[in-house]
Amino acid sequence: MDKADAISAARQELADYLRFKSKRNTPERNQLLEAIYSVDTAISADELSEEMSRSSRFRISRATVYNNLRLFEDACLIRKVFLNGKVMYERTDRSKGVIRLICGGCGKTTEMNSDKVRRQIAMMPTRRFNATSWVLNMYGMCSRCAADLKRRQNRLNKIHKDKK
Ligand SMILES: [Zn+2]
Repeated sequence: MDKADAISAARQELADYLRFKSKRNTPERNQLLEAIYSVDTAISADELSEEMSRSSRFRISRATVYNNLRLFEDACLIRKVFLNGKVMYERTDRSKGVIRLICGGCGKTTEMNSDKVRRQIAMMPTRRFNATSWVLNMYGMCSRCAADLKRRQNRLNKIHKDKK
């Protein structure tokens, strides 16, 4: 995922979260989020305020910055980290999750991607637990094994019928 994709995915997640919480989506919020998602390192609230006053067409108070940082944290879009004794914020890595499809016939495992599932899991509250990654295993049968099984069943049915 390149940076532009990551930013637009984050904006979409924010929009979903705000709708879910019945909160207003504002251009200021989006611009703040974009500022955090534009850097690959952690950023402090003060650095973010400075960056916003330098580049933004909006006047965003420090209180607004702090309020939105808390909101982004609740939405799992950013996380708080302590670096060199300072409180900083960094974007959460959305790719830390795997969806696996496991065939019960041949055991073949394939991985798939679903941004919708990732978003849902990221928004899922985990009480007294800080989830850092996840694995979703789906069990079933691949199309090849399903076709094999069907052929075998048809053969058995035929033998059964011939016996009658
Ligand atoms: Zn299979």
